[in-house]
This record gives sequence, structure tokens and C-alpha cells, in this order.
Amino acid sequence: MPDPFADIAIPSGRPLAGVELGGTKCVCILGTGPDAISDQRVVPTTRPEETLPAILAILREWDEQGGFAALGIASFGPVDLNPQSPRYGHMLATPKPGWPDADIVGTLAGAFDVPAAFDTDVNGAAMAEMRWGSGRGLHDFAYVTVGTGVGVGLIVHGAPTRGIGHSEIGHIRVPRYPGDDVASTCPYHPDCVEGRASGPALGRRLNGRAPADVGPDDPVWAPIVDTLANMAHALVCTTGPMRIAMGGGVLSGQPHLMSRINAALLDSLNGYMPLPDPGHYVVAPALGGQAGPLGAIALAASALTQAMV
Ligand code: ADP
Ligand code: ZN
Repeated sequence: MPDPFADIAIPSGRPLAGVELGGTKCVCILGTGPDAISDQRVVPTTRPEETLPAILAILREWDEQGGFAALGIASFGPVDLNPQSPRYGHMLATPKPGWPDADIVGTLAGAFDVPAAFDTDVNGAAMAEMRWGSGRGLHDFAYVTVGTGVGVGLIVHGAPTRGIGHSEIGHIRVPRYPGDDVASTCPYHPDCVEGRASGPALGRRLNGRAPADVGPDDPVWAPIVDTLANMAHALVCTTGPMRIAMGGGVLSGQPHLMSRINAALLDSLNGYMPLPDPGHYVVAPALGGQAGPLGAIALAASALTQAMV
């Protein structure tokens, strides 16, 4: 089996194209890695019939200017990742107006005769961190974003998990922090991680206070730390990533949370499982805001590698 993270060898010398679809904006990126990006453009996410053609126009422009060797598409979800499914490459039941059932892969990849890969934004970001960032050299890894939702990209033996779909670990149910009676913001689950520790869940806890004004000593952080540590505990005990990168607006806006989540995780594991680097098992993503767009490039790289096998 080829090393999925080997240096990208592109026979044609052409760059890779990537599209990261996000809830508020989409990023189109052309290049082969963090230090080799020749173009990067943003398209606002409105309705699919407006956003997808705008992205397609950028890809066509790149195609006419020398082309690209492969295309990676990393999208917010939930999305259908099963190539056997009639809805492969489509958006599933997102609350984002107009997007359920949007044909992302058909619209964007169908127009180009190059290998293409499609996955979630967080699986892409995890692949990028493993290629160029905090997960370098690892084959079992998780990338978590704590922002508008809690998304988890979960990589096992070099590939994102599959099954019914992509991982949805942000929606696992974990015990409530003692005394925490704030209602979940997830419309599906009264006590899932996303409903209790995402940006909107934090917003509900803050009752009108701005997150940036809340100090590290504020009691609001205890249930959030506990919830995220519980989720990390579940990850350790299931697929056992060698490291977890945790980012997104809540974590990057509150740098004190990382070491607290780490400590709470060790506490929760209670010595049962040894961790590779216990004091730094949960870390910040090294690629920062570029993890998402570079994730699309990492997916394009994997499409190319698979096409060459
Ligand atoms: P998205 O998931 O849409 O990409 P982000 O990762 O940027 O969004 O996260 C947005 C969330 O981050 C918001 O819900 C907001 O509550 C939260 N946030 C922004 N700034 C801070 C801060 N200083 N401290 C804690 N949370 C913050
Ligand atoms: Zn949920």
C-alpha cells in the first residue's frame, strides 16, 4: 500500500485544485501545499444555484490557464460519501436553506477529466494536518473544530472513517457536567457535544455576554472543558488517534482551554490508557485557518495517488 502522505509527485507538473465549501464562505485554492499556492479565492456561500456556478467559473478559468492534475472537494455536511449511492456527492439534511440535495460533486467535478476526491471539510483538514501540520508522521489522527458546530475529522490507518457515513462524533452523547442544566442547542440531541460545547452553545450559556470578554476564570468554561474532554476520552477509547488537533473559533479565541481539556482528559482516563505524549495529546492545529483550504488540496493529492495505483 502506498504511503498516503508521501510527497506529492505530479507527473504532469500541473498543480492541484481544491474547493472548501463552508457554511458562510467557500475557498477555491490552486497549489501543492502550504508554501506552494498560486491562487486562492473566496466565494460567499449563498444558495447552491449561485455559489456552485461561481466556484465552477474559477475552476474553468484555472483549467484554461494550464489546468490542474486533480480536484479535491471538502464540504460542510452532512454529505453522501458512498460512491454506490445515487446521491453520492450530494448534500444531505443540512439546515442551511436550499442546500439539502445539492449536487456538489456532479456540478464541480463532472466538468473536468481529472481524478477527484470528495470528503467532509474536517476529514480534509485532518488529512492536511497529517501531511503538513500537527499530525505529520501519524496515520491515526483526529481533527476537531469547535465553532458553529463541533466537527470531527477522524482518520484511521491513513484514511477517513467510513461506514454509514462520515464520523459524526460531535453528536455523541456524553454525561452532563454536575449541575449543568443549560439546554442543548442541538435540535436532535438534548446532551450531545455540539449542543453543549459549540459556539452557539457557548452563546446560550453566556446569555448576551460577548465570548471575547469572558475571562479564563469564568465558571462558563468548566462544562465546556468537561464536555470536550469526554469526547476526547471516547476518541481515545475507540479509534485511538495518536494525537488530537482541536481548533475552531471557540478554541482559538480561548487559548487557555487547550491545556485544561488535556488535563481533564487525563483525569477522565484515570490512568487506564497510556497516551503517546500525555501533556500535549490535544494540540492546536498547526495550519490554523488554512487547514480547511489545504484539506481540499490534500484530498486532491489522495485522488491523484489512488489514480496512479
Ligand atoms: P465556523 O465553524 O462557522 O467556521 P468558527 O470556527 O470561526 O466558525 O467559530 C465561530 C464561533 O466561535 C462562534 O460561534 C463564536 O461564538 C465563537 N467565538 C468567536 N470568538 C470567540 C472567543 N473569543 N472566545 C470564544 N468563542 C469565540
Ligand atoms: Zn446533536
